[in-house]
Amino acid sequence: MAAVEAGASGTVSTDTSFFGHPRGLAILFATEMWERFSYYGMRGLLILYLTQHFLFSDERSAVMYGAYTALVYVMTIIGGSLADKYLGQRKAVTFGAILLVMGHGLMAFEGAGSKEWLTYEGQDYQITLDGRGGDALQILVSDSGRSLISFNDGATQMIIAEPAVVGLPATIPTSSYTTRVEKEQLFVNVLYLALALIIAGVGFLKANISTIVGALYGLNDTRRDSGFTIFYMGINLGSLLSTIIVGTIGIKYGWNWGFGLAGIGMLAGLMTFLIFQPWLEGRADPPSAEKLKQKVLGPINVEWACYLTGVGIIVFAMMTVMNAHLVPEWFVGILGIAIFLYLVGYALTKLAGIERDRMLAAIYFILAQIPFWALFEQAGSSLTLLTARLVDRTIFGISVPTPVFQSLNAGFIVIFAPLFAWMWIVLSKRKIEPSAPVKFAFGVFLAGLGFLSLVGGIAASGAGLIAVSFIFLIYWIHTMGELMLSPVGLSAVTKLAPARAVGMSMGAWFLYSGLSNYLAGVIARGTGAETIGGQLTDVVAAKATYVSVYTNVAYVAMGIGVFMLIISPIIKKWMHANE
Ligand code: GLU
Repeated sequence: MAAVEAGASGTVSTDTSFFGHPRGLAILFATEMWERFSYYGMRGLLILYLTQHFLFSDERSAVMYGAYTALVYVMTIIGGSLADKYLGQRKAVTFGAILLVMGHGLMAFEGAGSKEWLTYEGQDYQITLDGRGGDALQILVSDSGRSLISFNDGATQMIIAEPAVVGLPATIPTSSYTTRVEKEQLFVNVLYLALALIIAGVGFLKANISTIVGALYGLNDTRRDSGFTIFYMGINLGSLLSTIIVGTIGIKYGWNWGFGLAGIGMLAGLMTFLIFQPWLEGRADPPSAEKLKQKVLGPINVEWACYLTGVGIIVFAMMTVMNAHLVPEWFVGILGIAIFLYLVGYALTKLAGIERDRMLAAIYFILAQIPFWALFEQAGSSLTLLTARLVDRTIFGISVPTPVFQSLNAGFIVIFAPLFAWMWIVLSKRKIEPSAPVKFAFGVFLAGLGFLSLVGGIAASGAGLIAVSFIFLIYWIHTMGELMLSPVGLSAVTKLAPARAVGMSMGAWFLYSGLSNYLAGVIARGTGAETIGGQLTDVVAAKATYVSVYTNVAYVAMGIGVFMLIISPIIKKWMHANE
């Protein structure tokens, strides 16, 4: 039974049918679980797909991957703002989910893949990969047969395993041949379009679905943080399942099977949302139904103009991903500063009194997440390389593949999120729940502490391999920090931003999350070590670089955490709790 009472952001529910929370949370949980299932499943395969199927260079692939992962979050500010002003969150999420089904579905059309040709003494040979992922083998094909190939240290020579079969010498200097890649342009364009559809889809869905979670609770409903923590568990359940299932199927059976499965997951998300949206009881409806029908140009009304903006995002995103290597780095910094000035300008000119204070607090949270993600997001980059190269990954006699360690984060969230959700409620009943700014300070502090513990592990390893327990430890500490910060931030922003700007503010939250990923890349670059053929040349020097970069970022984050703790009473005041 859903009793409805009046609240500041429309109607709020006192329904407790989903683990003590409104049943609307159940459909948002399930929809976002499937959306993240498709997102993380696809993302897990993407860099390998770019380098192994389309044969893009490592650099080009990394830049494209970076642009894609940043743009998916940057576009949420447009999706969020359009929902605030015209569409309402329900329609925006539905539109986003449809684009996502199309985008993930399109990823399954892979074509035959790019072909690499090697020309040696006037003769052409095809180089192909046998298998996918880390275990793929490089094969040279000649008219007479196939042979495995490899390279010596320093990559000065190609070594042919079965020279007699392919009719070539056993070793060929790398300077004596040339290679060229032939791409199937149609399928490369299909890839760009698919990525652009996903960018626009996440842009319309991600911030808005979080906004709807916020709309389920009254301003002073003590279940809000706990509700967001449960929602966050859905996010990570999707991520955990897909990094294991989509990742394995894509590598074992074929890219299209993996991407296709991600698409089916998203379809399940769309169906869930369409069927069960009455459970939202009108809380995510457009602010004005009349306004939506107003004509803008000829037969096009406001609602269709919003969808056409989505088409504009697709075109823009497609061009940007295609030309990502041409976008200058300073542009990202300028974007961050411009949006910050816009948000502060909005608070100062459009709001007053308590509303203005609360918006300033929301802006504080939006920015305060940056040090956290910049450290946390080392997981996919520098921490993964460290795990691959310097950690003893043997557990119970099995050498665990490096990417599997990344699922530790989602796994820990699924285990610990319910505990946190419960803990927030218990503490708030006793009136000793830490305030959001205090939780944030702990989150940032823990990001630093995680790295400091790893530095301890590196020091303890001497000249040998680092004990794997330190990788478990850093993921665990970081996940505890994430639970203090990420769901709490979502909750705080939905509560603090005025109802008419909450979508835009959630969009800004994700935008800075995207920009922090970029900053994470800059930090990761600082840990880069000398390698030949992907192998470290000097283990001691590499460890020293890790120790120095990780110690520095750890102390900076811990310092920021302490500072945040000190200023937390000011932010708490801006929040005007219980007013
Ligand atoms: N893992 C979270 C999600 O996928 C993090 C998003 C963020 O970077 O803010 O929703």
